Amino acid sequence: MPTKRDYYEVLGVSRNASADDIKKSYRKLAMQCHPDRNASPEATEKFKELSEAYEVLSDDTKRQRYDQFGHEGVKSAFGPGGFDFSRDFTHQADLQDILGSLFGGEGPFAEFMGGGSRRRSRSGVQRGDDLRFDIEIDLEEAIFGSEKEIEIPVTDECEACHGSGAAAGSNREPCRQCGGRGFIVSGGGFLQIRQGCPVCNGEGTMIRHPCGKCGGSGRVRARRRLNLRIPPGVETGSRLRLAGKGGGGGRGGAAGDLYVVIHVREHELFERQGDDLICSIPVSPVAATLGGEIEIPTPDGFAKIKLPPGTPNGKVFRLRDKGVPSLEGHGHGDIHVRIVLEVPARLSGKQRKILEEFAAAAEASNFPDAAHTRKISEAFFARRDFVRKGK
Ligand SMILES: [Zn+2]
Ligand SMILES: [Zn+2]
Repeated sequence: MPTKRDYYEVLGVSRNASADDIKKSYRKLAMQCHPDRNASPEATEKFKELSEAYEVLSDDTKRQRYDQFGHEGVKSAFGPGGFDFSRDFTHQADLQDILGSLFGGEGPFAEFMGGGSRRRSRSGVQRGDDLRFDIEIDLEEAIFGSEKEIEIPVTDECEACHGSGAAAGSNREPCRQCGGRGFIVSGGGFLQIRQGCPVCNGEGTMIRHPCGKCGGSGRVRARRRLNLRIPPGVETGSRLRLAGKGGGGGRGGAAGDLYVVIHVREHELFERQGDDLICSIPVSPVAATLGGEIEIPTPDGFAKIKLPPGTPNGKVFRLRDKGVPSLEGHGHGDIHVRIVLEVPARLSGKQRKILEEFAAAAEASNFPDAAHTRKISEAFFARRDFVRKGK
């Protein structure tokens, strides 16, 4: 029989690794050799070995026994024949998370949107919550990026008791109900039922004198100020992840992450489409008719474009690379300019006279669309009369 590898070695962690380190390492390695992802027989063997190591090291009691007595010490934790993945592995939930991230799943939001599945180990160490914070910014900030101070409500470890929940000078004590085991056994003979201890919630310890500041929960509500750097190019729905800036962990657990979700306010001048900007520019019918230069607003300032003679209403021009910088850091979007003819208002007597002169001099060929519409109207009337007569 080949010698069994050391569990710490299998998980690639040191002997004093934290519960969080062990979990992280397991997730990373399991992702690489999960049978759904890696079909080779070696990968399957490796996955089993990995899961066995995790099963032992993620449980404080089993880990202690393993540290003291090696593989021999945890033999009784598994059935005859040793570790059997389908029978002995108890961390299906952790695997589900891994598979979720493997195959798209619900992404990083699943955890904190649901919010319910906070996992607490036997020692009470718990990772802080992932938090979501929504922020509204204007288009200028989205284009150029900005720095903002935000204040987020968080749940932090209580400073007075360092998260233990016990008043100063006192400690957590073994639970009297379960004798510190965290579970109770009821029934007898072969019909024994083992359930989590309802008094200590399965933690095995209790607080006799609760901390005055947090009431024994070990956690306090707080508001945390953070400097947020918004990179150029964000748009509505962009998420910024601030690792370790979420809720504080409990009893030495790592803090969760903070996800900032961006919402860009609508802008009067520019409409946003991806990295492109769209704007409408009013132009006088004279400039559209004779041609000329017009000024287009861009993030860099006004840009001039040449309007060709006879530019129709609604014509769209494109200014390449004048739009929003790409969030990924390569290039810019475009600006699409829609020409909207603006009918002149508040004419002076002189202006009116000039236009009247133009109208008198105008011919049907100056307005081919109008001439065409007149022609098809007449065709309509002719056909109408023919149909009427036939009845
Ligand atoms: Zn406290
Ligand atoms: Zn208990």
